Amino acid sequence: MVGRLQFPVSLMIPTRAIRPLLLAGVAALLSVGSAGHAADAKAASVLKEKAEIDAGLDRGYAQLDALYKDIHEHPELGFQEARTAAKLAAEMRAMGFEVTEHVGGTGIVAIFKNGPGPMVMVRTELDALPLEEKTGLPYASHATQLWEGKPTPVDHACGHDIHMTAWVGAAQALVAMKSQWHGTLMFIGQPAEETVGGARAMLADGLFKRFGKPDIGFAQHVSNGPAGTLSYRAGVNSSAADGFEIAFKGRGAHGSRPQLSIDPVVEASRFVVDVQSVISREKDPAAFGVLSVGSIQSGTAGNIIPDGAIVRGTIRSYDEDTRTKLKSGLVRTAKAEAEMSGAPPAVVTFDAGASAVVNDDAITGRTGPIFKAAFGDRAVVAPGPGSASEDYSEFIIAGVPSLFWGLGGYDPKVIADAQSKGQVLPSNHSPQFAPIPEPSIRTGVEAMTLAVLGVLGK
Ligand SMILES: [Zn+2]
Ligand SMILES: [Zn+2]
Repeated sequence: MVGRLQFPVSLMIPTRAIRPLLLAGVAALLSVGSAGHAADAKAASVLKEKAEIDAGLDRGYAQLDALYKDIHEHPELGFQEARTAAKLAAEMRAMGFEVTEHVGGTGIVAIFKNGPGPMVMVRTELDALPLEEKTGLPYASHATQLWEGKPTPVDHACGHDIHMTAWVGAAQALVAMKSQWHGTLMFIGQPAEETVGGARAMLADGLFKRFGKPDIGFAQHVSNGPAGTLSYRAGVNSSAADGFEIAFKGRGAHGSRPQLSIDPVVEASRFVVDVQSVISREKDPAAFGVLSVGSIQSGTAGNIIPDGAIVRGTIRSYDEDTRTKLKSGLVRTAKAEAEMSGAPPAVVTFDAGASAVVNDDAITGRTGPIFKAAFGDRAVVAPGPGSASEDYSEFIIAGVPSLFWGLGGYDPKVIADAQSKGQVLPSNHSPQFAPIPEPSIRTGVEAMTLAVLGVLGK
């Protein structure tokens, strides 16, 4: 009976089900329509902003180019960036920023208040690398500075000079467009990124206590990808880095009488080979992890067995489990090599390390469509994180949700030429690394300005 009575009721079920479906369908159509319109309107306003940034660049690019070449020719090592910091501080003051120097050593903080709204941080690094530039560029560096106590050639081989110039250019564009946004800009010049200490030094010097904690942060890094392009991704963007130093101890002797020695060259050599089994046999093959030895220092002459060897290198990983596994495997291997040689225990030290940069999902979700609207196919979602590391992660860990993206820096013709000849393109940290200023800087200015405009109050 209930069954029969239910018959007509059952007929009603589809009606009841269809009506909401139909309504949902209409609502979906309406929302697709309005979302489509909203997206079109948003894209149009991004293109309008980009046109305005470009007009400013057309007027002021020559000065940015001169600034870039000057910084490139006068690179400075971490915590020695006195000239660089002073130059950027002067540029920012001239634009009306309130500038504080010597934050965390050689760091600078430039604040521009423009009414109520979010505080947005834009970070550039200030430092260069201890190596001799071999690009042959007319504005190549011939500078030297003290590195580990010795005069050493210095080169902007990581392209931080591109970031600094784009940082100044973005500040100029934002100030020129100040009637179109409100909020506060916090432009920071961070020392010593390469030695992974500058971000921590600025934070320890009260960066966020003295100047306020930004709501959002942005940074970019140039590579040997095609100039005029950029890549971004939500989530993990770059690896954790842990520098290590191992002091192998031995007993010195004449090269002809090895029986009297404990040979630290043999200890160090075994270590370099054996430690790779931590990667190949202990690490999950699906997890990212790299362990590289970049420096071995021992001995003075071919007929002397030295009494010690110093091995230096770097570990890279994306997750904490792998990071811990590689560090403990390295310590265990170093200890075992010393023991096997009957040597005193090896002394292993790690630097303070840098955590992985993890991009904020919401900010990436907001900025990605802006990049797409402005650059089309020239803005790509990176398929995976890079193996390089960045101490920008310190600002994220300190509570600033951020987006850190990659910027192409090489002439596509040069890339195509190298590919056709089967040559390897010089990468960051190579003495031949030579990004082209135009359009790398222009793209950096456009991307940074648009990203900041996208989160400021309008
Ligand atoms: Zn670097
Ligand atoms: Zn770098």
